[in-house]
Amino acid sequence: MTTTAFITHRECWLHDMGSFHPECADRLAAINDRLIAAGLDLYLSFYDAPQATPEQIARAHPESYLEELKASVPEHGIRHLDPDTAMNPDTLKAALRSAGAGVLATDLVLKGEIENAFCAVRPPGHHAERSKAMGFCFLNNIAIAARHALEAHGLERVAIVDFDVHHGNGTEDIFRDDPRVLMASIFQHPFYPYSGADCTSSHMVNVPVPAGTRGDTFRQIVSDMWVPALRDHNPQMIFISAGFDGHYEDDMGSLGLVESDYVWATQQIKAVAEDCGHRNIVSILEGGYALSSLARSVVAHIKALADL
Ligand SMILES: [Zn+2]
Repeated sequence: MTTTAFITHRECWLHDMGSFHPECADRLAAINDRLIAAGLDLYLSFYDAPQATPEQIARAHPESYLEELKASVPEHGIRHLDPDTAMNPDTLKAALRSAGAGVLATDLVLKGEIENAFCAVRPPGHHAERSKAMGFCFLNNIAIAARHALEAHGLERVAIVDFDVHHGNGTEDIFRDDPRVLMASIFQHPFYPYSGADCTSSHMVNVPVPAGTRGDTFRQIVSDMWVPALRDHNPQMIFISAGFDGHYEDDMGSLGLVESDYVWATQQIKAVAEDCGHRNIVSILEGGYALSSLARSVVAHIKALADL
């Protein structure tokens, strides 16, 4: 059986962007409840996320940006950085734990202590650009983890796959000029953040899909476009920007994916890793706002990671 790590931190629950904001701590509570109800907790290794260090963050964001974020933390109440992205006094702590989770996951996998990991963290990261917080994101967790694999562990090629309903504009911004990183993504288009469809970079496999797209088309795209590009790139590690807001029940987007689609995609990604001679996979939570379908999808995804 695979050893799969589940990495989180209690401080990720403290970040709050105001009443009724869909990106809320109840998301992590729903995942925890479902994990325990499914009996999955018996099969996973649990780790507390450390805080990412300024050096680790600087691999994806300029130092001045981290200083700006620090200066934006309100003493009390909520401060908006854009209409849907806001900080409370605990936001930076939560963001540092979220980024640190991906770094720890990368270390554990590359030291062989675990085979793969899921990071149940918030705030999410894939909309955070080099110098810009947006779309509920502050630090780009997946980018910081991928750069950690490249810079601290000396890997030469990694891949990021992103099946969140939204385009990961932040991840693209950070890796646009870094051909060591292949990014493969599927996202609803036209839709927030209205980017990605016109990308010409050879190491970005962007597949915009219209509202209403369901699992059969999603699977065809993964098979026809993602898998061959991933095999060609031959990554030494694969990172997953795991957003579950493309689920049929999630009103944040208008795609028609269901749990079995996420399981299937996870199995395809695992098969690509094995074709490349390893099992190194780190998955980090991005979106997913309908609590029931989010929790069911995360559990199904983790079961696939853990071969359960
Ligand atoms: Zn999303």
